[in-house]
Amino acid sequence: MEMEKLNNSIDRSWIDTWNQPFIISGPCSAESEQQILKTANRLNSSYVQVFRAGIWKPRTKPNNFEGIGKEGLKWLRKVKKNTGLMVATEIANAEHVKLAISFDIDILWIGARSTASPFTIQEIANALEGENHRIILVKNPIHPDIELWIGALERLLGKGIRKLGVIHRGFYTYKNSKYRNQPNWNLLLNLRTLIPRIPILCDPSHICGNKEGIFDIAKKAYHFQYDGLMIESHCDPNHAWSDAQQQMTPENLLEMLKTLTNIEKCDQKSELDSFRILIDELDENIIALLAERMNISKKLGVLKKTSDIAILQPSRWKDIMKKSLNLGKSLGISEELLEGIFQLLHQESIKIQNQIRN
Ligand code: PEP
Ligand code: MN
Repeated sequence: MEMEKLNNSIDRSWIDTWNQPFIISGPCSAESEQQILKTANRLNSSYVQVFRAGIWKPRTKPNNFEGIGKEGLKWLRKVKKNTGLMVATEIANAEHVKLAISFDIDILWIGARSTASPFTIQEIANALEGENHRIILVKNPIHPDIELWIGALERLLGKGIRKLGVIHRGFYTYKNSKYRNQPNWNLLLNLRTLIPRIPILCDPSHICGNKEGIFDIAKKAYHFQYDGLMIESHCDPNHAWSDAQQQMTPENLLEMLKTLTNIEKCDQKSELDSFRILIDELDENIIALLAERMNISKKLGVLKKTSDIAILQPSRWKDIMKKSLNLGKSLGISEELLEGIFQLLHQESIKIQNQIRN
């Protein structure tokens, strides 16, 4: 689909009616009726518009709690009746869609693992046909493939689903990230350039994987003028059946949202700060790669010691430098910079290997 046509097809009236950040909160998983009602009652409806709870949980490994299933939909219906909050849950196949609709769940979101699968998205889109009033939120795919993400929106629009939004929940990295899922603000800015009308929410809970980092990520989301947040909360986080480390109590959430609102008022939204956030993110990635490089240097040091190979291999070093400078040149990086960086890396690698040898 042409990008301009796609952009014009998005109906963002559902989020524009709120003249404050749109907040979705509630537990990772529905566990019991009591847990659901308790959590919902403690969320303040002047700050939170939607109550979330996972009914079917995509777990990385089998034999974990995989969601309470259909029973939980009744509890969500009760929350809606008792509190007036809208309710939301994750759907991952046609059967989930059918059941969620039969319980009149207001907002359905598609999880990161599902967005990565075109077959799953098409199945969901087909099942949603005719549900034009329902709000569908699409989390980013687990890997940073912007086309795949846009493809999911296209499949939904193709079935007449126009009340759409996306959720930035971060991207999987193999190692060394301080996040459970690395945020990629730049990718989101690119998405917004391509589809300016798309409502964008941020899910700091699944980005951080812990409670401590949530405030900082939410602050960045506000800085980039996201439309809202999805944050996990639980009446008793320490005993949650899934994602216990990252769930906040409703009271702590509320306190944080109030602070954010005050900061939001003072934030100049300067372009300078935006660039600084993007640079910080790249620096974090560079440091993670450096740590990985040093780890391999250590293993190399052990191998050279046991095989009695000389630490300094001039031809290998010349080769690395040449390849790196060529690659750098093709990417517009000055030779001086790369040469300096690689000299330092090489020195450090030799130092590490010497320490292992002695
Ligand atoms: C969730 O929101 O509980 C969830 C499973 O999220 P994600 O798809 O982002 O992992
Ligand atoms: Mn979760």
